[in-house]
Amino acid sequence: MAATLLDGTKIAAEIRAEVAAEVRALAGSGIRPGLAVVLAGNNPASEIYVRGKVKSSEEIGIYSEKHTPAPTATTRELVSLVEQLNARDEIDGILVQLPLPNQVDAKTVLMAVDPAKDVDGFHPMNVGFLSTQRPGLVPCTPGGIMEMLRRSKIPIAGQEAVVVGRSDIVGKPMAMLLLNANATVTVCHSKTRDLPGVCRRADILVAAIGRAGMVTKEFVRPGATVIDVGMNKITDRAEFDRFFKGNEKREQAFAKNGSTLIGDVDPAVFEIAGAFTPVPGGVGPLTIAMLMANTVRAAKMRRGAAVSVA
Ligand code: NAP
Repeated sequence: MAATLLDGTKIAAEIRAEVAAEVRALAGSGIRPGLAVVLAGNNPASEIYVRGKVKSSEEIGIYSEKHTPAPTATTRELVSLVEQLNARDEIDGILVQLPLPNQVDAKTVLMAVDPAKDVDGFHPMNVGFLSTQRPGLVPCTPGGIMEMLRRSKIPIAGQEAVVVGRSDIVGKPMAMLLLNANATVTVCHSKTRDLPGVCRRADILVAAIGRAGMVTKEFVRPGATVIDVGMNKITDRAEFDRFFKGNEKREQAFAKNGSTLIGDVDPAVFEIAGAFTPVPGGVGPLTIAMLMANTVRAAKMRRGAAVSVA
């Protein structure tokens, strides 16, 4: 049976439409959620991400502003900027785009964000809320994956879930969300023994590694749901041929741009998976949609509204 393609673009559009409706409802009470994005440094990928976040806010009706401290900014200067944003009532969400320049202590800056405005969900207080199942703000990428699983009616409770990657941004919160949803969760990393064998146990396999096409058919039990978080750029022709030889659309894009995007999962896996997320168009679009959802959630929570536990 052909695998189900989990269409992140479509699900993200649904989420954005729901969030836009919430924004309109809040406008009726004179509330306009506000998001401040801090972009320090000259990372081209970060600039693209931030542009997308600001554009998406505008489309949905969320007020947004972008702060671009100099690439030479110190930890103290960024903390000071965050404190100013913390103090402004019209700002509900503060997002500090990572990575920060080398001279900046990112943990100190993230710690300075008011947990009530921490729309990235990285503050230790929100990490604690997530692990103790209290209402808080959940990191956008794993939060988006949970939305995708639920909206696609993929069973979670009682299922074996394997998460490859243990970053604070993706792997750990992903594992916690799956555990909170009653999956039996295994977290793998670079020291895991027999990674393919452990992954083959999964009904739901989440790859958040950052290595092009590392998860091959050997890692996947036929019929499993495979969620590919990775975003890796291929520029090498031999590597391109290994994954995409004969793929007309990819060939054209590669010839034009000299690169193509691939996840952590070898596309050949999709021949045996039960459901899978494509790259691009899978997990990626959900991240920004969930940032919008988190900003509205923060606006409501800051005004005392009851919200559900993630
Ligand atoms: P990260 O902080 O670099 O973490 C990577 C994790 O993968 C680490 O836990 C690492 O293990 C593990 N790992 C690395 N090599 C491994 C190997 N050979 N075997 C098993 N585990 C291995 O990365 P991240 O921030 O979580 O991001 C992961 C990927 O997701 C990247 O491609 C990133 O671009 C992408 N991403 C996409 C989105 C999106 O919106 N689609 C959002 C965020 C991230 P150790 O802990 O042992 O080092």
